[in-house]
Amino acid sequence: EAKREKRGSFRFFHAEMDAKLRERAKLETDLRAALDGGAILPYFQPVMALGDSRIAGFEALARWQHPERGVIAPDEFIPVAEDMGLIGQLTETILRQSCIAARNWPPRLTLSINIAPLQLKDEWLASRLLSVLTETGFAPSRLIVEVTENAIIDDVDQAAEVFASLQNAGIRIALDDFGKGYSSLSHLRQLRFNHLKIDSSFVRSMDSAESQKIVSAVSGLGKALGMPVTAEGVESAAIADALRALGCEQAQGYLFGMPVPADQLELLLAKSAAKPVRIRKTG
Ligand code: C2E
Ligand code: MG
Ligand code: MG
Ligand code: MG
Repeated sequence: EAKREKRGSFRFFHAEMDAKLRERAKLETDLRAALDGGAILPYFQPVMALGDSRIAGFEALARWQHPERGVIAPDEFIPVAEDMGLIGQLTETILRQSCIAARNWPPRLTLSINIAPLQLKDEWLASRLLSVLTETGFAPSRLIVEVTENAIIDDVDQAAEVFASLQNAGIRIALDDFGKGYSSLSHLRQLRFNHLKIDSSFVRSMDSAESQKIVSAVSGLGKALGMPVTAEGVESAAIADALRALGCEQAQGYLFGMPVPADQLELLLAKSAAKPVRIRKTG
């Protein structure tokens, strides 16, 4: 009896594994087709300058327009693209489409893209990105490459070389999700970043005195090291005001705008050009 039960649960387990494997295989086939067919595209979220409440630029965030499932978020397919060795192609696709979209933006606006930590092992990264910039006529000085510190880098020397080739070309590098990992400070010592993005977990909990002190200290750290600081995940005007008071330079979050496709930026851009968007009366 016990034996039969065991065999039954094994069979069940086996069937479940099978389904998972088939699902994964389909995801991989679909993803390859999506990349080739232009179904992976950038959405754009505004980055606000807190000083004058104007848009400083946009961050490109990858979306998958799936024929059956609708819009799929990057957390589901970026890791798959990494496993499949497709992350380089994905980055270039996002960059190319973003640069083309940026032709309709005021030239002072920056473009931020995300790269996978894995790509810091690619000694050709800078030249790959630069050839997309040349092809689309986008100035390297407007591009910011964001990289999470998430286990950033096992080979710091290699990463430092990639950093140097990007920065020599005029491309800036931001440390994304700062504070979420465990070795942030050593990364700051070993690699030269141009921007710091405070992880949304600190920003969202800014009603606590501890988080406020941490955000304040990180802003100070950014100032000391000459890196403008961006707060991620700003959802309320109260938090935007608090960040401004702490001297944080930039902010991103649903308060200012959700990530949207390129053709939906017009309204935001028109507002930003006409006058500074007042988020809330201060003082
Ligand atoms: P990230 O670069 O830290 O991007 C911020 C994430 O927070 C985005 O999620 C954004 O939609 C979300 N977000 C922005 N404001 C708010 C807010 O006020 N509240 C909340 N709750 N969330 C907010 P998304 O688009 O799902 O992207 C998740 C992560 O996937 C990104 O984190 C980034 O690490 C990665 N990613 C996105 N696009 C790409 C890409 O093209 N290439 C690579 N390698 N990674 C990408
Ligand atoms: Mg980012
Ligand atoms: Mg982030
Ligand atoms: Mg993130």
